[in-house]
Amino acid sequence: MYCLRSFFCLYRRMLEVALEFDLIEHYFLPLSQGFDGVEVGIGDDGAVLDVPNDHQLVVVTDTLVSGVHFPEDTLAYDIAWKALAVNLSDLAAMGAEPASYSLALTLPDYDAEWLQNFAEGLRALSTKFKVPLIGGDTTKGPLTITVTAQGWVPNQQAVLRSGTQVDDLICVTNTLGEGALGLKFALEAETDDRLHGLSRTERTRALNALNRPMPQLAISTDLRGVVSSAIDISDGLLADLTHVLKQSSIRQGGGKKLTPSAMLGAEIELTKLPLSSGVKRYVEQTKEWGLPLSGGDDYQLCLTISSNNLAKLSTLLSAKGVPLTVIGKVVDQAGITCVKQGVIQNIGGGEKGYCHF
Ligand code: ADP
Ligand code: MG
Repeated sequence: MYCLRSFFCLYRRMLEVALEFDLIEHYFLPLSQGFDGVEVGIGDDGAVLDVPNDHQLVVVTDTLVSGVHFPEDTLAYDIAWKALAVNLSDLAAMGAEPASYSLALTLPDYDAEWLQNFAEGLRALSTKFKVPLIGGDTTKGPLTITVTAQGWVPNQQAVLRSGTQVDDLICVTNTLGEGALGLKFALEAETDDRLHGLSRTERTRALNALNRPMPQLAISTDLRGVVSSAIDISDGLLADLTHVLKQSSIRQGGGKKLTPSAMLGAEIELTKLPLSSGVKRYVEQTKEWGLPLSGGDDYQLCLTISSNNLAKLSTLLSAKGVPLTVIGKVVDQAGITCVKQGVIQNIGGGEKGYCHF
């Protein structure tokens, strides 16, 4: 009896392994082909990559968990798109050019249609930005997707969070709060009456921002040597700007323990926040600034820059069709103050950004 059971266990495991190889070969191997710069990709124990001369490797990782980072009924295509997009967004914020990515995929079961759509979502972005899939791992369990992406920057030119100083201007690309509005439509369309006043176009735009964020890679190389710091907005403007202020304060303090008086702060002018018509309408109706200030899922860049360099950056970005808006400045007092035409605003709770724990 024992013998029979272990035979079946072994047999089942062999089937699973065969299925796993079939899955990798069928859905993921094609995503690795037809690109330059990869000496060995999927199929060996590791990938072997060419590193351009005088460049440094930038490596980023982000995990998406079903029900946490995306609603459980999100389309496979959109899940794949987002898993890759959020990593490419990190590379953009570092001033890097994207090179390749790997995929650690945990699946609850083998669903051919789901996998086909998932692979199509990856293909769409990887073709757009010419990044091959170079390897990964496939396991069984609750749906979880981890992408690790690699990029290059010329030596010592990576754009960091830690470079801002007092009086730098704070800018953002495109508009804020769109992804968070999309999440409201995805989760609260029935219960939040305040969404009913928005048009179909505004709804589509918001859902698209949530499900298919576009990493700002078109402008990543323009940031080098021009901005003093950059971060991509994934957890909300206030939370992500706080990271910049903290890292920059630590660096200026020579890495010593920070005292509150050594902490940089920021002043944000609410009327300057770039908002789409949908987000604007929601904010006006609700008098809540949560969407643009603390809504996650924007994947826009928050940049700090010395005022001397602003004209240069604006020219570079407008040549790429990317709107840039100055929303405030870095100050020498800890904390982020929101003002409306110069008057300090109490924006209430919920402005802290998304926190997992
Ligand atoms: P190992 O036994 O060395 O862990 P695996 O059986 O996990 O190798 O994977 C075999 C090959 O397929 C490796 O080259 C690996 O990088 C690749 N691979 C596995 N899963 C994925 C995936 N989800 N996406 C892309 N490549 C994958
Ligand atoms: Mg493995």
